[in-house]
Amino acid sequence: MLLTPHTLVGLAIGTTVQNPLIGVPTAIGMHFVGDMLPHWDFFSNTEKFERRVGWRPLAVMADLIIGVTLGLTITLFILWVKGDQAMALNVFLCGIAGVLPDALEGPHIYMDREPKILRFLSSFQSKLQFQAPLPWGIITQIVVVIFALLIILNSLTL
Ligand SMILES: [Zn+2]
Repeated sequence: MLLTPHTLVGLAIGTTVQNPLIGVPTAIGMHFVGDMLPHWDFFSNTEKFERRVGWRPLAVMADLIIGVTLGLTITLFILWVKGDQAMALNVFLCGIAGVLPDALEGPHIYMDREPKILRFLSSFQSKLQFQAPLPWGIITQIVVVIFALLIILNSLTL
């Protein structure tokens, strides 16, 4: 799954589950659930060498920037507009937790020798991936994004 929907799911959990001790593990767990939804991403049906060249690294970077921008915007909104420091910290942590498994997979994709400890995570994650062709693989993620945004907007306007 793309990084932006993963981030939004984490942020949505952060806005609804107030306790980071519950929210953060839930956000990590929902990352894996998200990867089990049929989806298309920049690494769908690619070999390792293809992931490092051409447009794919740029697309991943753009996806990451969108996710980080959304996460920071929502965190700062909660901090400054709502004035809720605890919620802002929780949302920030849950947003990171939502993409953490993929961030930890970075070395697997971009390094020749990945740290052993991360190898288990990479193979676990690749088994979970449920690939779907375009456009269906994007439509499922648009649904996830809309759903997460509705949850976030709903909890921020209360
Ligand atoms: Zn993942």
